[in-house]
Amino acid sequence: MKLANKVALITGAGSGMGRAGALLFALEGAKVAVVDIDQRAAAQTAREIETAGGKAIALGADVSKKEDARAMVAATVEKLGVPDIVYNNAGIEGESAFMAQLSEDAFDRVIAVNLRGVWLGMKYALPHMVKKGGGSIINTASIAGMVAIRGATAYCAAKAGVIALTRVAALEYGRYNIRVNCICPGTIDTPMVRRIHGAEGELPQRALGPSASVLGRAAEPEEIAKMALFLASDDASFATGAPFVVDGGWTVV
Ligand code: NAP
Repeated sequence: MKLANKVALITGAGSGMGRAGALLFALEGAKVAVVDIDQRAAAQTAREIETAGGKAIALGADVSKKEDARAMVAATVEKLGVPDIVYNNAGIEGESAFMAQLSEDAFDRVIAVNLRGVWLGMKYALPHMVKKGGGSIINTASIAGMVAIRGATAYCAAKAGVIALTRVAALEYGRYNIRVNCICPGTIDTPMVRRIHGAEGELPQRALGPSASVLGRAAEPEEIAKMALFLASDDASFATGAPFVVDGGWTVV
């Protein structure tokens, strides 16, 4: 098992990629703090882990709020131990509007969750990880942090910010044996993507076409979880400060 005796804190783990990461990390031996703004969804993921024989706790937290971010780290330390792995994954798509039509409130909320939330997750975990002697932080960015997407002003800015935060954290904390990387997914078949495309059944062609994936399909959340597992584990012992693109080729065109 790649994560035996490790403690992992994963945000946004009630759904989509965070949930898939939580299940895979637990299967690989980690004790997992499953964090989500939707406490019931977090509890459901934690139940699935325990049913499969793993160890998990469920925590409700809004990662954009400093008290919640501090409390999720404190509860993890108290109940499972200092996290070796912090996977700041929670995020929202926000409203789709061209730049001039986007409201200030909508802009602020996306930045608060997708950028400030990632910073807060690192801010409150890092001192514990430094004391413990190291660890791995994984942040969820997006290819939206690398290329422009119409109607996604705040989302693209926040995700580019996550790539920058990741680099700074890697630079500052490498000396403490803490690696910090981010994942830049393309189109992944999660509830978020289905909300964006309004798809109940099959994802529409515009979510799968050559501009979205040269493989002609969206990925399953588990395909991102495998990259997160690589970054969390010692297999990625020399990887830090980098954006790991897993986009089915979106950014080659
Ligand atoms: P998802 O299925 O919607 O899962 C995200 C989870 O995060 C949900 O359970 C959500 O709860 C929770 N959450 C939202 N705001 C939160 C907050 N303030 N504090 C704590 N938890 C919060 O989405 P996903 O597609 O797996 O997305 C995971 C991450 O990947 C996000 O950062 C997203 O931006 C990024 N991403 C997604 C794609 C994609 O194609 N799906 C591509 C690139 C990057 P609610 O459902 O109650 O809001």
